[in-house]
Amino acid sequence: MLPSSSETIAETRAAVASARSAGKRIGFVPTMGALHAGHASLIRAARLDSDFTVVSIFVNPTQFGPNEDFTRYPRTLAADRELCGAVGTDLIFSPTVPEMYPPTSRTIVEVPALQDVLCGRARPGHFRGVATVVLKLLEIVRPDVAVFGQKDAQQALVIRRMVADLNVPVTIRVHPTVRESDGLAMSSRNRYLDPTQRLHATCLHRALVAAENLVANGERSIVALQSTLAGIIQGTPGAQLDYAEIRDADTLDVMTALDRPALVALAVYFGSTRLIDNTLLNF
Ligand code: AMP
Repeated sequence: MLPSSSETIAETRAAVASARSAGKRIGFVPTMGALHAGHASLIRAARLDSDFTVVSIFVNPTQFGPNEDFTRYPRTLAADRELCGAVGTDLIFSPTVPEMYPPTSRTIVEVPALQDVLCGRARPGHFRGVATVVLKLLEIVRPDVAVFGQKDAQQALVIRRMVADLNVPVTIRVHPTVRESDGLAMSSRNRYLDPTQRLHATCLHRALVAAENLVANGERSIVALQSTLAGIIQGTPGAQLDYAEIRDADTLDVMTALDRPALVALAVYFGSTRLIDNTLLNF
């Protein structure tokens, strides 16, 4: 069965209010659509922890830079509805841009430091756009629990920080990355890759696994690990390294020694397509 859907904030608030007054716990998964099995697993996780699951589908213009892929970002609403129905979504919220950003809107949310490193360097303003839209969506849906993917580790950290700092009454869950059978992290942007790029795009996962193996065998030098990561990417045809970094898993601070939980994060271009992936090292 296809889920109900709403394009307006008022209708969404009314549907959620009626579920809540029936005693239901509200789960929420924000997305930009072009849904795949990674999104599906987030929706299933939200369902397990709630009685009424809302999925938002909104390609948020404010998180795209001027030369990024906002206009060509895949929009597949009919297929997205089917997927949402198959995994048991109760309500899809797919607002228009003016519904979310009327011409009078001015307020933005910034999460300094966390937003400036890693992906924030190549994508200035990206995390401001993400934090602002996610806060708006949380205010519209008012969920008990919201589920995000570890695939976008920096995004999850920015949102956790924002929710804690602004006392937003929601539990944030971060769900593991869902991968293709050859290890490539699922992403709506994978469909931009031509067959050769798609083949070589496994280098991100291979690099992360190589780093994990080195650490399992006792390697503790951040410099050595980062150079292994970079070497694997730079040795892959068509791949251009944006960054390969190991940082504190909570603060994203630079680490001098591998003495606490760390995030290994990669961003790699194939042509104009930018892919990211990461893994956590726990001690
Ligand atoms: P997006 O539609 O790309 O903005 O992603 C919406 C949510 O799905 C975000 O919380 C992402 O981190 C999450 N997500 C995207 N790809 C994956 C994946 N392969 N595995 C798990 N979560 C994912």
